[in-house]
Amino acid sequence: MKISKIFLYDEPAVSQIQLDRLAVFLNKTFSIPVEIRDSILKFSKKDTAEKIAACRIFNLRKPYERHNPNTDEIIFEEANFENTSKTENIIMYDGFEIQKVLTELIPENERKLESFHIFFTNKLTCTYDYNDYRYHGRALIGANPSIVSTTGIIEAPAKPREYYLELMSSYAQGINVESIKQKYKGTYLEYNDTRLSRIIEGYLLQAIFYLEIGDAFCDKMECRLFNAHWQKDLMYSQLENRKLCEKHLLILNRLNEHNNK
Ligand SMILES: [Zn+2]
Repeated sequence: MKISKIFLYDEPAVSQIQLDRLAVFLNKTFSIPVEIRDSILKFSKKDTAEKIAACRIFNLRKPYERHNPNTDEIIFEEANFENTSKTENIIMYDGFEIQKVLTELIPENERKLESFHIFFTNKLTCTYDYNDYRYHGRALIGANPSIVSTTGIIEAPAKPREYYLELMSSYAQGINVESIKQKYKGTYLEYNDTRLSRIIEGYLLQAIFYLEIGDAFCDKMECRLFNAHWQKDLMYSQLENRKLCEKHLLILNRLNEHNNK
């Protein structure tokens, strides 16, 4: 394998990530050492807060333009470094810009190909897509370092179409939307969902396959590398099926053979 050690950086606001069990999972799957670390932003200062605030996006239809943050936005980011409470209002950030800011925080002697750094965040990371000229929420920002956005996992793959339709018609008719949410409960991930950690395993596999073979995704839904656009498919690949397809299992075995030599 190209990588020889994995570093996982915590997002203290989301206890359902369960870094300990993810470290065991990765170590079992790839038989390379995994180190768990605190959030890389934990002891960060105002200048980092300013850089992160500058990654905010306001117009989904336009590619990234550096935002000039105001004092409140900088204070908000700074408070987030210490504060572990989750904000309900979802702020969108350019994922590649945040990636640049976080990369600068990695100790220089660890910024190398063999050391794979994975940051967890509850910020919604987004990337601009030139196919439809708009930003989309992303669960995973690949490359090294990678970012796994827990809010992206919950918000980016779509909920069932019927759910939206019922929600819209009940809004129009003034029906209590809670009953609709209750009806579809379990068919999509929610905040504080205990299944989050197992879902994250799939995104970690995608991040590592991307680094090792240059391709993160599989077109088979019966594979943990499946790039799910619907919550239902995400749950099928990661919770129900929980396996790699035959082809990717072979690749995994080859990567591991290489390791043990
Ligand atoms: Zn596959």
